[in-house]
Amino acid sequence: MTPKIARFLAEQQPATPCLVLDVDRVEQNFAALRAALPLAQIYYAVKANPARPILERLVRLGSRFDAASHEEIQACLAAGAAASAVSYGNTIKKVSAIRSAYAAGVNMFAFDCAEELDKLAAHAPGSRVYCRILVTNAGADWPLSRKFGTTIESARALMLRAGELGLDPYGLSFHVGSQQTDTASYEAAIGRVAMLFTDLRDSGVNLRMVNLGGGFPARYRDDVPGIDAFGRAIMRAMTEHFGNDLPDVVIEPGRFVVADAGVVSAEVVLVSHRDRNDPQRWVYLDIGRFGGLAETEGEAIRYRITTPHDGGAVGPVAIAGPTCDGADILYERSNYRLPMALACGDRIELLSTGAYVTTYASQGFNGFAPLAEHYI
Ligand SMILES: *Cc1c(COP(=O)(O)O)cnc(C)c1O
Repeated sequence: MTPKIARFLAEQQPATPCLVLDVDRVEQNFAALRAALPLAQIYYAVKANPARPILERLVRLGSRFDAASHEEIQACLAAGAAASAVSYGNTIKKVSAIRSAYAAGVNMFAFDCAEELDKLAAHAPGSRVYCRILVTNAGADWPLSRKFGTTIESARALMLRAGELGLDPYGLSFHVGSQQTDTASYEAAIGRVAMLFTDLRDSGVNLRMVNLGGGFPARYRDDVPGIDAFGRAIMRAMTEHFGNDLPDVVIEPGRFVVADAGVVSAEVVLVSHRDRNDPQRWVYLDIGRFGGLAETEGEAIRYRITTPHDGGAVGPVAIAGPTCDGADILYERSNYRLPMALACGDRIELLSTGAYVTTYASQGFNGFAPLAEHYI
């Protein structure tokens, strides 16, 4: 938690549950990323947190944007981004959204199949297109791969076809999965992409861009490699495979830019002993899976939690949300331990909740309002 957030929580005591996000930390993370990968063009993945103050700060810093829908593109433009700085990175796009993006001046589109390529040729003629290939998501706590991406063989045929359709075959992309903790996953994917570059060059198609996607991890409960380690591994692999003939390098970080800039402040609603002989207490918070903590599904993302009793004796807990849905359990098997003194009415904090939280909140399930947000 940054000092600014700590002061805001102490002085304002905002109603819970709420997210408090320090936009200066976003700027620091962006700077760290830029230092780790100075040759890369950074396209912030808007879905991680599309709040206006974040987008405006990133516009000022010269970021570009990876948007996934008409609405996200509009949010970028409204925050001051140039249309030429927006990539339409979703491989699944409504025709109406392709048309509106094209009309607004967006000139870079992702695809991963012939059917989507035909839509782009028809509704965004002449645009730069890049094909997403399927790579392993091993090492990622929040994998994405099965839904997106195609094989190297198909990508080859599709990039040839892109040119025939009057589009500009710009490059290739992949995504190694979100919260990726293994730097080697980027190196393996870069090797695959580089082979296809060479292959297509022999067929007369000169690709100019490699999009490494996102995936750079935030620190939650467990340690992760620092961003510099990812930068070194990526640049080593790019140099090994492309030599002095480096293509444009694009990255699309989401989580890394915003996660540790935010803290959710929540209230303990109930601490119960469900069975007298079970040492595991159940701790119910006023935020749960439906209040925005969707990434606790499968206990995949394990947030660090701080309480007013830290330093005292702890014991095992299960942690759940306030709704009447049985799926609204955050952690039951991940060996969370919280202070024995924890009690109803305590205010606790879930750390590094700036990414993939606010927009996952439901619209009033059980009457609970979506998560309040404070950008400071
Ligand atoms: C979600 C997403 C990202 C951002 O991923 P992070 O793991 O948050 O960095 C980048 N690119 C695409 C295409 C995505 O879908």
